[in-house]
Amino acid sequence: MSIKIDSDKCIGCFRCMSVCPGNLIYKNREGKAYIKYEKDCWGCTACVKECKNNAINYYLGADLGGNGAYLYTTQNKEELKWHINKDGKEVLINTNRKESNKY
Ligand code: SF4
Ligand code: SF4
Repeated sequence: MSIKIDSDKCIGCFRCMSVCPGNLIYKNREGKAYIKYEKDCWGCTACVKECKNNAINYYLGADLGGNGAYLYTTQNKEELKWHINKDGKEVLINTNRKESNKY
């Protein structure tokens, strides 16, 4: 499993960089975030939860249903919404932002 960062959506806030426990996210010449060693990502989802621009897709491993399935988050003041996509279909799971680190 790993993440992919959409540079068209990335606004260069670098919240993702500051929360990655493995220091895997860097800034490119255009001022956008990118992941240098995708294979080193262990899928903690910290960056996914932190990105407020839906720029980070988290690709699920085969052990979790994988096969192109991915998720990203959106949020408002109260909720963190997990958008889970597979085969063109999306499932939405709402969680309380204050409790988002439990998941
Ligand atoms: S948190 Fe999202 S918008 Fe901000 S730098 Fe990272 S990918 Fe870009
Ligand atoms: S999922 Fe976790 S380990 Fe992987 S890049 Fe994001 S913050 Fe770093």
